[in-house]
Amino acid sequence: MRFLPVFLDLHAGPAVLVGAGEPARAKLRLLLAAGARVRWYATAGRHDVSSFDVASAERIERAAGDPLTADLSNVIAVLCAGAGDTGHAMAARARALGIPVNVMDETAHSTFIFPAVVDRGDVVVAIGTGGASPVVARRVRERIEAMLPARIGDLAGFIGRWRETIKTKLPDMALRRLFWERVIDGPIGADVLAGRAAQAHQALARISNPASFARNIGEGFVTLVGAGPGDPDLITIKALRALQDADVVFYDDLVTPEILDRARRDAALVPVGRRAGKPGIGQDAIHRLLIDAAQSGKRAVRLKGGDPFIFGRGGEEVEALRAAGVAYAVIPGITAGLGAAAESEVPLTYRQEALRVTFLTAHKVADAGEVDWSALTDTQMTVVVYMGLTAAPAIRDGLLRAGRSAQTPVGVFARATRPDAKTVVGVLDDLPELAAQAAPGPAILIIGDVVARSAAWRNASPENIIPQLLMAAE
Ligand code: SAH
Repeated sequence: MRFLPVFLDLHAGPAVLVGAGEPARAKLRLLLAAGARVRWYATAGRHDVSSFDVASAERIERAAGDPLTADLSNVIAVLCAGAGDTGHAMAARARALGIPVNVMDETAHSTFIFPAVVDRGDVVVAIGTGGASPVVARRVRERIEAMLPARIGDLAGFIGRWRETIKTKLPDMALRRLFWERVIDGPIGADVLAGRAAQAHQALARISNPASFARNIGEGFVTLVGAGPGDPDLITIKALRALQDADVVFYDDLVTPEILDRARRDAALVPVGRRAGKPGIGQDAIHRLLIDAAQSGKRAVRLKGGDPFIFGRGGEEVEALRAAGVAYAVIPGITAGLGAAAESEVPLTYRQEALRVTFLTAHKVADAGEVDWSALTDTQMTVVVYMGLTAAPAIRDGLLRAGRSAQTPVGVFARATRPDAKTVVGVLDDLPELAAQAAPGPAILIIGDVVARSAAWRNASPENIIPQLLMAAE
């Protein structure tokens, strides 16, 4: 490491900029964004500040004269960008005076260099490569950008506001660190990161005894997390974060091993779903496990296939947690119907063709018997059926009886977004056979004209599809 990252207070004095053209303007943008006052010696003779707003332009002092003889007292740094040989001479002068100097893209003349910056308000991350490769620095920055919660700066600001108060109440440094860890990792931190700052301030103000709060193993909480349809790259950044923070993960049968792999290495992984035909532990037992985990201070993740609130019992779990007074949050996921539609290019809505979408479940043939099919005969409605594989004959019969055309395009999307995904398309009349061809599940059925726009339909053998379309047209 040749360059030590330090953070320069740009309010301490003016920065001197020597140079011209786009390089100089880029440096001006950077300095002004950080609140600096800039004394600019324009080596091309012209100070072009037209691209800056009035407030920013006011902080630019358009200096005349020769920077090589100018007074540099109080100057906190010298920057040369697009200054040619004057830049080199200026650098020599600044070094002689002991003022930090940067010559753009010339490490040999510089005593400091500019890092790539992740700027989240009070949280600033600087990335350097010793000047070797700005492109590598940018790649690292992109990764850090993706990893950091959007409101991490708010969290630092929030703690900054309480710092002195807590310091007075908790003079012991070790205890104070424990206190802040618990605040950051717990529901208060989660509130700030979710943009509920007022709520977070209230919650912190309610902590009457910070020392016992810090020592307490404390209340844990539960995060309901949507794992998406199977492809691990389809989980949200927020879901990933929750998985990496979890002490324990209670997961469903539908969650793939690749997604479980993303959990924190030492998190306990507990299956709670139905497995290979065997019944699961039951919803009440799941509620109990979640509540117990939270009450013993754990950060629990309840990981569900797709989205927690689409046929995922997420509603019941949230109610059970609320009734038990356990703190919780919900992170949405890509529901299987949307995953399947995107993968197979079924536009679920389509101008003038499909104006509505219904998600329904037909787990048992008995469920299919309870569905009011007459509400689903609208030809401008796309119907997305979950858990419909075994009930496919009952679904077909119900829709036909209610009057939906036997030639309505349908698709069966099995194991969508997984490596062994299989899509079979055809017409409503053949739904049971199509379901049998696509099995085993999990599978989504999509019924509606838009299925004819899918990649599978386009690729299907013409002798299969065309006679049916012709019949439909008759
Ligand atoms: N909460 C989940 C649905 C749970 S119900 C979600 O939002 O996706 C379980 C049903 O989801 C399965 O019977 C099947 O119909 C559907 N499903 C889940 N994963 C699937 C996948 N990868 N491909 C197709 N269907 C899937």
